[in-house]
Amino acid sequence: MPFKPTQPKQNVSLNYAFTVFFLIALSLTTHTLISHMQLSNHFLLSHIFILYPLFMLGIFSSTNGKIKHLCVAASLCLLILGCLDDRQHNVIPSDVILLAPLCYLVLYPGSLWPMAVAGLLVLFFIPTDPLHIQGDFIGNTFELMTISIFATVSLYYRLRLKTQMERFRIESLTDFLTGIGNRKAFNETLQEIRTQPLNKHHYFSLLIIDLDNFKRINDTLGHQVGDQLLKEISLRIDHVCQQHLQYSSVFRLSGDQYAVIIQDNDIQVASEHLAQLIVSSCTAECTLEHNCYFTTMSIGIALMRDAEHSVSFWHRNANIAMYRAKLNGKNRIQWYDDDLNNEMKRHYKIERELSFALEKNELSLYYQPKVSVETNQIHHAEALIRWLHPELGTIAPDEFVSVAEKSQQIIPIGRWVIEQACQQAKYWHDHNQPICVAVNVSTIQFVYDDIYRIVTELLSKYQLPAELLQLEITETTLMTELQSITHTCHRLRKLGIKIAIDDFGTVYSSLNYLRELPVDSIKIDKSFIDESLHNEESQMIVRTIIQLGHNLGKVVIAEGINNEEQLAILRSEQCDLYQGYLCAKPLPADEFIHLVATNNHSEMHVS
Ligand code: C2E
Ligand code: MG
Ligand code: MG
Repeated sequence: MPFKPTQPKQNVSLNYAFTVFFLIALSLTTHTLISHMQLSNHFLLSHIFILYPLFMLGIFSSTNGKIKHLCVAASLCLLILGCLDDRQHNVIPSDVILLAPLCYLVLYPGSLWPMAVAGLLVLFFIPTDPLHIQGDFIGNTFELMTISIFATVSLYYRLRLKTQMERFRIESLTDFLTGIGNRKAFNETLQEIRTQPLNKHHYFSLLIIDLDNFKRINDTLGHQVGDQLLKEISLRIDHVCQQHLQYSSVFRLSGDQYAVIIQDNDIQVASEHLAQLIVSSCTAECTLEHNCYFTTMSIGIALMRDAEHSVSFWHRNANIAMYRAKLNGKNRIQWYDDDLNNEMKRHYKIERELSFALEKNELSLYYQPKVSVETNQIHHAEALIRWLHPELGTIAPDEFVSVAEKSQQIIPIGRWVIEQACQQAKYWHDHNQPICVAVNVSTIQFVYDDIYRIVTELLSKYQLPAELLQLEITETTLMTELQSITHTCHRLRKLGIKIAIDDFGTVYSSLNYLRELPVDSIKIDKSFIDESLHNEESQMIVRTIIQLGHNLGKVVIAEGINNEEQLAILRSEQCDLYQGYLCAKPLPADEFIHLVATNNHSEMHVS
């Protein structure tokens, strides 16, 4: 595996030095043993010493423990044999005997072997001539033992230090909770891949995996269960990778985010396959402390070859894909591509610059007429927000309202919308064009802002008759805080403000809240109108909503009317108002009022 984070980094130059030293020492020892044995007329014995370097090389190169031990025993026997013989002839120079223990130092670094070998040599090398014991021999023995002890001890501590450093390094690269590689290991691996030859970059891909709604598990079930779940998920991801891919590394980058780097010849197919396997393994039931949990995940995949050989781009691309998977509703696998990149760049720009949009006066309200189905007159409008961005052009609310809701910037924006709408409605009212303006109010505004106070303050500030202001609330908003919203709506309605349920039919169209809520109008969602021409069931739903609304005394409005056929259906079902491109798209205030003037004037003449 080319990029396992836990692999120790070898000091290559030091290893070479040791090997060279070993080979030199070995050849010197062997040469001396053989040539001096020949000198001492032991022709046969000298040939036996040819085996000595073979045994030593056997120890050096073999990974088999038994062979190693055999070679050690045989080499020692040969050395002792040489020493015993030399006691009589005294031909082997002591320097060579000194080199032999140092060879064992290379073979068994940090062990007591070199000292043991030195001791053995001294023991068997004691000359038969007592005169030698007095002089050279004591000096040589002292020299041999001192060097062996010094070399053994210093190497032992060096190795201990190295092992400890390696342990610290591995610990610093390991995620303490799950035992897999952490963010540092991930970054190191990315750097390793970066330094690989460019043609190899084609075979790498990166998967960023983020658990969906993990915070909820942590908040509701506690951090202990959360930790166990994270461990279980990392085990499963690791298991899937090990089972199905030869080259893969798994990391935990942060709380509930994992990364998998894979290498394969058919990288696209391998990545997709692996992502599918991870999803099916991790979304399977998970039993923690006798309870069953299910979790889903969003996965972003990016290929190294799409990242211009930059690992930071590569990481960013996989993140972009993962965030897109989240934005698209989570629980999915998303591949990175250039379109996604542009889309996400735009999204980030919108997210970044939204907070300045209000200050910079870039927001504006457009007005779409709500037309009477029966008379074709316009007395109502819906105020729809637009962001006139200096670079991106006009941005529709679908692109930024949800962003504003997430950051709660919808609160100042929503206040601005209501104020603009009140100001505009008052202006038209004062110019003999009374138009009831509807504004969309988000759940966040209802939950975190004081809508009642804001509306009352603005009504009095602009002296606007309350019946010229309508609030549109979606079903989702109602479901969030039905009781408090019902209470606020009752109070608003007492002021004379009108309330409409927007996009009716798209969520749980509960009859209960139709009874509870003080609503004036129901807006049938555009999707039913789109289908009504070709789908009888949708037409039946439109009919049923209109009848239901009328039976409850509500005004019924149909959204998204694009053509005369759709309008004909509404007419036959006696719908009250319609809104759609058939009459007009949302327009700036001056164009809108111009349309109203010409439309209402001509309709008056027709009727
Ligand atoms: P909505 O309140 O349901 O508004 C109706 C949307 O349908 C508008 O899109 C409108 O332009 C579009 N529409 C109307 N008739 C037709 C038609 O015939 N064909 C087609 N294709 N579309 C039609 P818009 O303006 O993009 O607004 C989208 C949504 O953004 C709105 O849906 C509303 O939920 C939200 N929104 C708009 N302005 C605001 C605002 O000031 N505050 C909040 N909180 N949400 C807003
Ligand atoms: Mg609306
Ligand atoms: Mg709507």
